[in-house]
Amino acid sequence: MLYLDNSATTPIHPEVKDAMLPYLLEEFGNPSSKYYTLAENAKYAVENSRKHIANLLGCDTDDIIFTSGSTESNNMILKGIAEYHGISENKHIITSRTEHPSVLEVCEYLHSKGFKISYLDVDQFGRIKLDELEELLQTVPTLLVSLIWGNNELGSLNPMDDIQKLCQKYKVFLHTDATQVVGKIEVSLNDLEGINFLSCSAHKFHGPKGVGVAVLRKDSLGLPIPITPLLHGGGQEKNYRSGTLAVHNIVGMGKAAEITLKNLKCNIEKLNSLENALKDILIKKFGNSIIFNNDTEQKIPGILNVQFVGINNEILVKKLAPYIAVSTGSACSSSKPSHVLQAIGLSLNEIRNTIRFSISSLLKQEDFKIFNDL
Ligand code: PLP
Repeated sequence: MLYLDNSATTPIHPEVKDAMLPYLLEEFGNPSSKYYTLAENAKYAVENSRKHIANLLGCDTDDIIFTSGSTESNNMILKGIAEYHGISENKHIITSRTEHPSVLEVCEYLHSKGFKISYLDVDQFGRIKLDELEELLQTVPTLLVSLIWGNNELGSLNPMDDIQKLCQKYKVFLHTDATQVVGKIEVSLNDLEGINFLSCSAHKFHGPKGVGVAVLRKDSLGLPIPITPLLHGGGQEKNYRSGTLAVHNIVGMGKAAEITLKNLKCNIEKLNSLENALKDILIKKFGNSIIFNNDTEQKIPGILNVQFVGINNEILVKKLAPYIAVSTGSACSSSKPSHVLQAIGLSLNEIRNTIRFSISSLLKQEDFKIFNDL
């Protein structure tokens, strides 16, 4: 079976599994315990992973807070900033219509708590328009901008460099959901001073599920930007995120980050050439009966969002399932028509004809031969 749903999740890299196993077995210490070797080993392993993840994201090691993944990081950051900094005259948050539900639903929740939420429209490929962002920043006092870096359905990249410059100019906090871009484009937060907060999950780059990070960066004076924690308790992760650390998962994420960084340039090239190969196969096989919904530029390599004209996507995905695993869109909301495709102006029929192919750099071009037998 050919797995082409890597935006939903990726298989664990074999070296990640090997790195994790000792921490599921003999190295079971709690990193918050003290003085004995098991605890010290666990603490060392956590801090070592933190370094690898910081290297991958190009930020400071102490900006990294371990969470259970991007859903939690998005919740923690948006709710945490809103609660700590949301004073009555500044309860405005800007986001977009193509965010992941773990941002959109939090915004809905914050709206119910008295925040005003502005949803930016997007262009035909799902990118926000900078002039609309700037107009809002100019006219409405704003607490936070939260914009996805790379879209999980279309792969479109938002112009993050320009967005962070605008947020710096208007002195507004910026959070980005980077879940889909880590490991697929270069992320160097030290060159993007205007990004204050970032979320990502390990399982999108061949790490384990159930672990991710919230990056909480310092302000221009080098001081931490305070946020109210989502989880209160034992005070782990500098009080930002209480709860015993999942050491095995954190070790896995660290190893995945190390491998990802080492191979990044080569993997980006590989993803691009695999994407082109897949595109050629689809065009040869289906000709005029397919339409690509995504752009060819400014996108995450390895994601293709394709309409099969007149073919119901659920039926197609089910028919392909024994041979090729693909999805009708985001794994989290595949039962509803995609809000992302609606936002780029597709009709319900066009959305019902659309499936997403997402490639991993662990694949080989020969793996696509399976299409010949369909
Ligand atoms: N944000 C984006 C863009 C995603 O694609 C996903 C998962 O698909 C998430 C957030 C949530 O990640 P997790 O389910 O690991 O918490």
